[in-house]
Amino acid sequence: MLAANFEWAEKLNSMARQASADRAWAAISRFYSNCKKKIPGKKGFPKFKKRVHSVEYKTTGWKLSEDRKYLTLTDGFDIGRLKLVGTYDLHFYQIKDIKRVRLVKRADGYYAQFCIAVDREIKVEPTKRVIGLDVGLNHFYTDSDGNKVENPRFLRKSQKALKRLQRRVSRKFRTRTTQSNNYKKSRNKLARKHLKVSRQRKDFAVKLAKCVIQSNDVVAYENLQVRNMVKNHKLAKSISDASWYLFQCWLEYFGRVYAKITIAVPPQWTSQNCSKCGEIVTKTLSTRTHQCPHCGIVLDRDENAALNILTKGLSTAGHVGISAWGENDLWKESGNRFR
Ligand SMILES: [Zn+2]
Repeated sequence: MLAANFEWAEKLNSMARQASADRAWAAISRFYSNCKKKIPGKKGFPKFKKRVHSVEYKTTGWKLSEDRKYLTLTDGFDIGRLKLVGTYDLHFYQIKDIKRVRLVKRADGYYAQFCIAVDREIKVEPTKRVIGLDVGLNHFYTDSDGNKVENPRFLRKSQKALKRLQRRVSRKFRTRTTQSNNYKKSRNKLARKHLKVSRQRKDFAVKLAKCVIQSNDVVAYENLQVRNMVKNHKLAKSISDASWYLFQCWLEYFGRVYAKITIAVPPQWTSQNCSKCGEIVTKTLSTRTHQCPHCGIVLDRDENAALNILTKGLSTAGHVGISAWGENDLWKESGNRFR
């Protein structure tokens, strides 16, 4: 269908074409199911992408050389043999385990991504520890033991640089005419900086999430639904939002790899309730300590929230046993006692 309409589509490998059509259909069906489920907020109306930065191949259209140093694309475009540079060792995997190959254009060059199907599960000893995490702007997170992880320095440092580069791009922008080379250069510089920040962010999220999962058996965290987050034009806020979201994704990933329990908790009331007696103690964003007039406990505001997240998480995790705890069990108990 597509191939008949566009000449260039014909040149592309049929599977690469299929992959991009698959992605389009996935976007459309996601939009309809979001509408059907009446999910509030944005429904993710599918966008027609003007500039596509990647091509995806499934199992045909590409070939790896014997020494796995070169990737050859065998579809209509004469990109030919690509030398793979980098440290990632592909020797470790069987060719048949490579399910997809993706060529991605980034601000600083072209990248080949290999999607490899392996069941990664690592056997670990139980740590006998559980933890709740509260994320916030002042610290990256505070855990239920009161430990705080600072926001990484690169977040603050890169904000300034990004702002400066953005200003330069805007200054060089011309309306109603072609853009100058200086504009293109400065735009690429901004894109490279964004790329660098996103790589630092990923690195930070991966390391921290792995550490948290390795040192705990159960991790409860606030489910910050990115969907519901108001679009904020403050750079600091948007960078930390993205960092938290990434951190959550990697928590889930490592949770599966290390066979640990991860629980996403709805964020309502976690900061207002007292973690000891459960009474509501209202506080504004600037109130940094939780002082309960009902039970007298004094705690750091974020530690109190982290404790609430842990309690909520444990209560929603479910109970796996021989039989469900129901009315029958209760009746048996009391019947025995009175005999
Ligand atoms: Zn209390």
